[in-house]
Amino acid sequence: MRGFSWIALSLALVAPVAPAASATWYVVQYEDHGDGHRQIVKEKTRSLAEAPASGIVETAKPQFVREHQPLGKERLVTLEGTDRAAIARLLEERGVAPMAPVNEAEALADEVVTLVDNGPSANRIDLVFMGDGYTQAERAKFFSDIQRMVDDMFQGQTFASYLPLFNVHAVFRASAESGIGRRGIPKNTAYKLAREGDTLRAIFMRDQAAARASCAAAPDCDYPVVIGNDPYYGGLGGEFAISTSSETSGTVVLRHELGHTVGEVGEEYDGGGYFGANTSPSASSLKWRHWATAAEGEAVAAEPVQAKFLDWPWYNLTQGPYAISWTSDGRQARYGIWYSVSGLPESSDLSLTLDGQALPFAARGDQDRFFSSIEIASPLAQGRHELKFSENVRDGNNWVSNLTVFEFGAGYHYDDAYVGAYPTFEAPGEIAAYRPTHEACLMRNMQTANFCQPCQENLWMKLLGTVKLVDDLVVERGVEGVSVKLSTQALSGLKIKWLRNGEEKPELRDRVEWNLPPRDAAGTWKVQVEFVTPEVRQDPRGLLKDERSVSI
Ligand SMILES: [Zn+2]
Ligand SMILES: [Zn+2]
Repeated sequence: MRGFSWIALSLALVAPVAPAASATWYVVQYEDHGDGHRQIVKEKTRSLAEAPASGIVETAKPQFVREHQPLGKERLVTLEGTDRAAIARLLEERGVAPMAPVNEAEALADEVVTLVDNGPSANRIDLVFMGDGYTQAERAKFFSDIQRMVDDMFQGQTFASYLPLFNVHAVFRASAESGIGRRGIPKNTAYKLAREGDTLRAIFMRDQAAARASCAAAPDCDYPVVIGNDPYYGGLGGEFAISTSSETSGTVVLRHELGHTVGEVGEEYDGGGYFGANTSPSASSLKWRHWATAAEGEAVAAEPVQAKFLDWPWYNLTQGPYAISWTSDGRQARYGIWYSVSGLPESSDLSLTLDGQALPFAARGDQDRFFSSIEIASPLAQGRHELKFSENVRDGNNWVSNLTVFEFGAGYHYDDAYVGAYPTFEAPGEIAAYRPTHEACLMRNMQTANFCQPCQENLWMKLLGTVKLVDDLVVERGVEGVSVKLSTQALSGLKIKWLRNGEEKPELRDRVEWNLPPRDAAGTWKVQVEFVTPEVRQDPRGLLKDERSVSI
């Protein structure tokens, strides 16, 4: 349940908006650590064709989203509006310190390369990749790692449909040492990334000011991403999406962390921080009711499932076998075991048993952390059960990272196309919230490359909340006639209508360019652009529509 307060706060403070003429839009973001520390982390301006007339729009979100941790007190607060002085007054009232000074020499040396150019930065989402722990000699590795991950992300299914809205840049800043730190102690690197303990999960950044400076070196940095030069699993969501260059897990982590960063949502897995569009506090008031498989008007029942065991032990098997137990009432329909391990490249490296009977373990062939599940379509007998992980090789790096055991009641929907009310658990017997699907979302299941439908729709809302469908409308008057040219986002599924003096010209439908004799062109024109996609079912703010008018 933690985290709902952020959302309430952000909604309560949004000022009413009314359209006005073109204006400069100021955006200031500051960190609030909840202990009195408040400091600006980002300032930028945007010029808008149409801007809200007055008022300051305030939003807040968690600054860090770390695996299997409750959300911390640290928030990122964004103040936006046309009235720069009013924003400045608010910052002063709250005692927000100015941005930390930037090391100009370092920032000047940053090498910025644009990898994907889909249009003007002012009307695109600019994603900026930085690398930590790449020495000058590893410059080529940095660019090839980033290109590989960008290809994975945008040519694969995860973000493919959103790509036209994005520009992607890479900023290279050489590190003195190669690789990232462990046990919270960074190496001498550009942004000072370090792992939490010896684990393959959270990676923290100790020099955020340096990363913000590199972010600012790129065009209009909307979402900064920091990639650690490290072959294993790990990352963090929030202000910076952090992942590693791991060929086995780098993209897996990155798309999940970007889900947090761009979608402004929490986890869908058990034992996480929950907030945003993919979580609802009760089954009877789902935010995604319009996506639910149950017919309209029908109640959506909470899925019958019990978490029998739930932990993320980060247990090193050199200490001996890792064994857990639970009691079954013998009345559930089936059960399943979800876990992740690392350091076990061969299937013979681990023995997994349930009540002394061997369960299958299929290794992936590498040392990196990976996720696996065993789903058994029969009931567990009534009584006590024991699950045991034992290592068969003693090489010191065999970890059990997380483990959950579920029992499912009759009527539970396993079908990943089914959208309903699936409980997420804080602890056995303790439902934290509800999520939309069984295992269809990468915010829960690291083995899938897909977002669930509510997450997908929410991403459109977040992205189209900052960019417009129309880039520009240009009119040229010549002797021969009048030419009109419309530039838009290159999304497939755009429907275009041209209206002259309020009446549609059907012969111009879906045209982005036309030329008419002056007599036929004279008048007041309006072009209406609509993005039609099955990925959005509800658009309360009208973000999938845009229009421009011009008098000829
Ligand atoms: Zn997460
Ligand atoms: Zn989701």
